[in-house]
Amino acid sequence: MIIHMSRNATQQQLQAVKDCIANRELAFDISNGKTGVTVIGVLGDCSKVEESVFEEIDGVDKVVKISKPYKLVSREFAPANRVIKSGSMDIGGKSLVMIAGPCSLENDNQIMTIANYISDLQIPVMRGGAYKPRTSPYSFQGMGFTGLQYLVHAREKYGFQIVTEATGLHNHENEDGSIESNTVLDNVVKYTDIVQIGARNMKSYGFLREVAIKTKESKKPVLLKRGESSTLKDFLLAAEYIAANGNSNVILCLRGIRTFEEEKFQRYTPDLGAIPVLKRESNLPVFFDPSHSTGYRSNVYSVSMAAVAAGADGLIIETHNDPSTALCDGEQSVTQQQLSEIIRDAAKIRSTLYPDGYRFPTGVVCN
Ligand code: PEP
Ligand code: MN
Repeated sequence: MIIHMSRNATQQQLQAVKDCIANRELAFDISNGKTGVTVIGVLGDCSKVEESVFEEIDGVDKVVKISKPYKLVSREFAPANRVIKSGSMDIGGKSLVMIAGPCSLENDNQIMTIANYISDLQIPVMRGGAYKPRTSPYSFQGMGFTGLQYLVHAREKYGFQIVTEATGLHNHENEDGSIESNTVLDNVVKYTDIVQIGARNMKSYGFLREVAIKTKESKKPVLLKRGESSTLKDFLLAAEYIAANGNSNVILCLRGIRTFEEEKFQRYTPDLGAIPVLKRESNLPVFFDPSHSTGYRSNVYSVSMAAVAAGADGLIIETHNDPSTALCDGEQSVTQQQLSEIIRDAAKIRSTLYPDGYRFPTGVVCN
């Protein structure tokens, strides 16, 4: 249920609405729309609450029942694009946001070499996995906290933001068998600017809740990847878990889905058609990962262009200074040269098709 206050509603009237919600043991989330109107999302089971309960309170303009299962992240709740602030950067605003870096952080030299060209290309966010969710328990599991510290060092030197994946609530075991003293989530929340949740964890609901609780105060953006076999409804509800537990600054990131493709051509199927669907259903920024969705560096340029043309607000791309020696996902990692071409042309597409940020093509109805 969404309560729209009138334009000139007072703080006392707003408080009366909050009290009324609390008396029914429900929670709420407040957003201030572009028009200056306060909108209150009532969270919890509203099925037994009549709209009139709130309509009768002075200062309330209208009460609308949200029909979608995902509420806080829906366009119905807040029709304007949610522009997430991260430092001085706008995510989901006018400009395309580029994120690039290696699949996994490998050593100081690799990290600083890539950081250097990322900075030269003026990419605002560097990625790099310190904790890697590997399909095989025998594969390299990531450098852990040491890698994260190198990434932090790169941020200090070059001034870009950093994103890395939080793989869970466990304490990471290093290559030498030692166990880290803090949990992976605590380290990632403490040291990165954006917290990544991987495709494998999209349905770990307890974990999503913890991520939200740990980022509730800071409102640090959470980059949530779509599970490889999840429906768009499941994906939006996973984002809703994070929003409902206190942090609505969620970036939806598509990264390809599992179909019947042969892996020699594509690792997954790039779910490009999901971009306009997510933009219509939700007000959250939508990113696309052309690296994992294709699996091969020769496909990354074309899929990047298609994603931006379809309305993606950002791209997250794997790059490596020497892809042939990469410890993880070398085949899909682009070179510095390829990355610079992608950035150049993706920016052209964004500014040509969406000069003022995402807009709906003619004829789209949003609910
Ligand atoms: C990654 O970004 O390195 C990654 C493991 O991605 P995904 O969760 O999409 O597989
Ligand atoms: Mn990878």
